[in-house]
Amino acid sequence: AHVSKRSSHVSSSVNACTDGEDRVINLDHGDPTMYEQYWQRMGEETTIVISGWQSMSYFSDVKNLCWFLEPVFAREIITLHKTVGNAITEGYHIVVGTGSTQLFQAALYALSPSEASRPISVVSAAPYYSSYPSVTDYLKSGLYRWAGDAHSFSKDEPYIELVTSPNNPDGFVRQAVVNRSLGIVVHDFAYYWPQYTPISYPANHDLMLFTVSKSTGHAGMRIGWALVKDEEVARRMTKFIELNTIGVSKDSQLRAAKILRAVSDSCEKIDGKGENFFKFGYNLMAGRWRQLRAAAHESGLFNLPEFPPAHCNFLSRAFEPQPAFAWLKCDGEIEDCESFLRSHKILTRSGRHFGVSPKYVRVSMLDRDEIFDLFVERLSNIH
Ligand code: PMP
Repeated sequence: AHVSKRSSHVSSSVNACTDGEDRVINLDHGDPTMYEQYWQRMGEETTIVISGWQSMSYFSDVKNLCWFLEPVFAREIITLHKTVGNAITEGYHIVVGTGSTQLFQAALYALSPSEASRPISVVSAAPYYSSYPSVTDYLKSGLYRWAGDAHSFSKDEPYIELVTSPNNPDGFVRQAVVNRSLGIVVHDFAYYWPQYTPISYPANHDLMLFTVSKSTGHAGMRIGWALVKDEEVARRMTKFIELNTIGVSKDSQLRAAKILRAVSDSCEKIDGKGENFFKFGYNLMAGRWRQLRAAAHESGLFNLPEFPPAHCNFLSRAFEPQPAFAWLKCDGEIEDCESFLRSHKILTRSGRHFGVSPKYVRVSMLDRDEIFDLFVERLSNIH
């Protein structure tokens, strides 16, 4: 999640001080700390040692289009997508990035017509991921410019549409909404993993973004990857990362490879011999969503989205999405849900940042058990 100055300042003092009613509960960011318990249980199995003389060069694979991509990491990406069935990798170029945040910017750079007289419009259907507007516009690029809610985009000119599916903040499965011939679509699949949503098809779009941040919970590793069909687009994205950071940390890629291997291996295990990573995540999220719905019901002041169940090819059964964020709507007269919850010492992110009404807030579902339990207990007591 995008870390604002205000909230990062707050976070250093939160979730760590006093217990009980005075304690500030910060669920503003989507910091995926709930996964720590799984990786702690794995113990030394995912430890890697990198000697002082290793991974020194800028280069990883000079024969590859993405010359800073570690071959072992590329192999593990392919294995994981095959195991989960959430994306096709055959016929795609892999571009590694410092988080999918860097890849998003690389995609904008690569997809913008370089000889255009005006910046290309960048749109996404509201409520959209709150970082898109700021990341698009912070450098005031002459190549691309944020143009807001895709629902109200009516210009007869080229545009880039960001499709986040399932969506941050509301968790719904999405498709492009503009559907004009002049459009280019970027699919942000940060949450297209079976702990959050049914895996209904192997995605095969032109440009797809993935990240370890929300899949394995390793946000601090800052590793993401793009699956790119068009060779020229992949080449331009690689060029952006070369200009921006001359590649991506090899140490992080090697560590990511080890983590993805462990996740793929855990999916192959017969029950009783180690825990399937996605089943662990699925069960945890299912329990949390039950707790949250019970708390909202108990309080009577909050509404939550309802999701239709769908079949998951990975878990071989149907279930309802259980998103990484709760998209809460305050009932009745409360106009500013963020301020209202802040008065109860619960920090969330207002709907305003996502291009919609302040009656909504986004709440992270990915914090540690202790914090999440405090949150649902406090919510249930707001009347
Ligand atoms: N896209 C979406 C939809 C996200 O929610 C996030 C993380 N909050 C990102 C991208 C950025 O992920 P990363 O940590 O890989 O930069």
